[in-house]
Amino acid sequence: MTRRRFRIVFYLAISLFILLSAMPSKKGIDPEFNIYLDAVEEFSNGNLKRIPNINFGRLESGTLGACNSNILYEEILINKNHWTYSSYHDRVILLAHELTHCYKKIIHVNGLMSDGCAYSYMNSHDEGSNCNKRHFKRYINEMQEI
Ligand SMILES: [Zn+2]
Repeated sequence: MTRRRFRIVFYLAISLFILLSAMPSKKGIDPEFNIYLDAVEEFSNGNLKRIPNINFGRLESGTLGACNSNILYEEILINKNHWTYSSYHDRVILLAHELTHCYKKIIHVNGLMSDGCAYSYMNSHDEGSNCNKRHFKRYINEMQEI
């Protein structure tokens, strides 16, 4: 192989590797999420649709979920450990939060109310099950407008 040809093959291999490593880890939506996604779609009056791949995946410790996107794909990854121990309200809010990142390209809306709970479901930190239950109606109303 000539030096030039070797270089072309080398760059093609690197490009292929980058392309493949940027693809989602799993395609489709894990059926585990369906009932919560139905709720999110309903609460948002159909504004938040289930467009990306949604699966359990490896995340940095302390991260509950993430929307990863580039020009080729979009995926939501959910922390399985946290999911296992979370309530119905936590799950709906987490999926709505990540869908809003992916679908509406909104970053975070931070701020706490006087009881220490997040003002918005787009807060960067989940303030816990008690807050999610106590202010669920507030967060559902917000989903309609987002
Ligand atoms: Zn977020």
